[in-house]
Parts: sequence; C-alpha cells; structure tokens
Amino acid sequence: MSRYPALTIFDAVKKFGWPEPGSPIISRELLLGDACNARCVFCCAKDLQKKAVWLPESLIRERIDKWASEGAWLVTFSGGEVTLYPGLEKISSYAKKRGFKSVQILTNGLKLRDYDYVRRLAVAGIDEVKISLHGTDAATHDWLMQVPGAFDNAFIATENLNRAGIKASFNFAVTSRNYMQMPLFARMAGSRLGVTGFCFMFSFYSGGMLEEAGGLGVKYSAAVPYLRLALRYMKVKNIVIESKMLSNFVPCVAPELTNLMSDWGFSGPEAVSQVGIGGKVREVKESYPERKTRLPSCAGCVYADRCYGPDSGYVKIYGGSEFIPQDKEEKNFPYKTLYP
Ligand code: SF4
Repeated sequence: MSRYPALTIFDAVKKFGWPEPGSPIISRELLLGDACNARCVFCCAKDLQKKAVWLPESLIRERIDKWASEGAWLVTFSGGEVTLYPGLEKISSYAKKRGFKSVQILTNGLKLRDYDYVRRLAVAGIDEVKISLHGTDAATHDWLMQVPGAFDNAFIATENLNRAGIKASFNFAVTSRNYMQMPLFARMAGSRLGVTGFCFMFSFYSGGMLEEAGGLGVKYSAAVPYLRLALRYMKVKNIVIESKMLSNFVPCVAPELTNLMSDWGFSGPEAVSQVGIGGKVREVKESYPERKTRLPSCAGCVYADRCYGPDSGYVKIYGGSEFIPQDKEEKNFPYKTLYP
C-alpha cells in the first residue's frame, strides 16, 4: 500500500483541467525512438531495441505544434523506453505550453525509482505515467521483463508518482505466464493501489511473441474467462473504468465486452487517433490492416463493416476457429466507461 494516495481520474480532471468525463478523447502519440533498457520476452520490437536513434527535436516540436492546432488535448510520448530520451522534460514542457491539457508517457518504470527524476517530470508538465506491470508477483513480472527487481521497482515508481502528484496507471500484457492473474491484478491495482486506469493488452503475435510462441502464447478462449472474472470483481468493487481498457481483442471472443475494447474497428474515436513513428504520422486505423487479417467467415458477421479482424500472427499459430461470426450485437456487460 502506498503512503501517498494515487491520483484518480477525478483528481486529474480537477488538478490538470482535463476535459470532464463524457468528453471525446482527442489524442496523439509520438514514438520517440526504439532504445530500451528492459528485454521483455514478448516485445514486438525486439530486433530494434539496440538502436538508440531518437527523433530530432525539431520534428517533435513540429508535430506538437500541428497536433495542438488540430485541437488534440492529450499527447503521449512512447518508445522504446521513453525515459531514456534525453530531451523528455524539454518536449513535455513545450507540449504543455502549446496547450495540451494532458502530457502522458508510456514506460517500463525502471528509471522512476529515482524520486528526483519523477519530480522533474512533474515540473515539466507530465501528468500521467502508464507503467508496464505484467504480473501480481515478482517471479512473473521480473521474468517477463527480464529485469530482476522490476516488480518491486514498479511499486517504488508508483509511490514516487503518487508523491509527486502525477497520475499513475498500468498496462498489463496478457501472455501464458500471467493470464490467470488478471482477476488478482484488478484487485491489486484497483483496490490495493487505488489506481483507476489500467489496460489489459492481448499481446500481438510478432517479434518476441513469435519467437517464444511455444511458451508464451495463450488462446483467447483460455484467457477470456479470467478477464470476465476480473471485470466482475471490478464491478462488485465499484472500480471505475476510465476508457476502453481491452487492447487487441475482437468482439467475437467476448461479445458482451465490446464496449470496453479499443483498436478493433474503424468506427470508434480511437481509430482516428494519430501515431507518429519516425518521420511518418498515420491514423491508427491505417496501421492495423498490416497486422490484422480478415477471415473468410468474417463476411457474415454483424461487425464485418467495422472490424479489422484478428491479429494475423495469432491466426498463423492458432488458426481461426475461435472467431465465430456474430449474428447480432450482444448486450454490453453493464459497465460504462467514463470517456467514450
Ligand atoms: S468474426 Fe471477424 S468480423 Fe466478426 S468480430 Fe470476429 S474477427 Fe471481427
């Protein structure tokens, strides 16, 4: 349990002036480079990790200017490992000055055990930090990240973020090593740590997931019962869901949870979010056709006009028998996200 309470989404609205719940999220994400100080076994960019080539600052500023003028209010800096980028504080301050209501980073959290560094990020205007946390115990998380002590570090990082007044949230990558922990994770993050933002990300079957697929892969049909249990727990405990928190799922694997899934279709607000990789910027919906595939059976599905289809790497390994076309839209699990 942290000595300092975690900032909730409601605190963030009040403290940072984020738009009220119910407002559309107009977000942009910029990948600053591929260098990383962890070696996550499932990483989809494993082959890139050694190259410490960062985007030029002029290009980053140019993107920030453009996106601010387009009315985006949330910018996320990611990598690789974004805290290795030497100009992070500078560009975060710049984004804040250009009017972004929220400046967020995605990180493995390793550098955040240093409170002075976390404090500097707060001064620079970073208001939410999404930490990778892939287990409810050290053996699981440390092994998945291949960094001894990473689990304890994540708790120290969360404590430092709470103390510095930055909102902490977590990303959990679902693999064979941790999928049964999803309900326990909901309890740890939502009840023990009081964090209102966390995301279950079904791993993409590329990079490390393909190399390790014999040991790391898990089928949707095996993982979804644990996911349902996690959500039932959250419902009973009144744990708030800020926004869509299931990544790389498709409606047919858990039809009643479609309202909690992001990135499955080209009609949701997240589909027009933009992601900058290297010198190129693309809408999210443009990048999915490369990694997803439409099965012949998808044609008869009620979601066929909106769904990208399942992850193509997954289908190569496990086939398509789990993706059963739906003849009607299922009633949603009674959970309303705060932001659409
Ligand atoms: S059957 Fe195909 S179109 Fe329908 S939800 Fe599943 S993946 Fe999407």
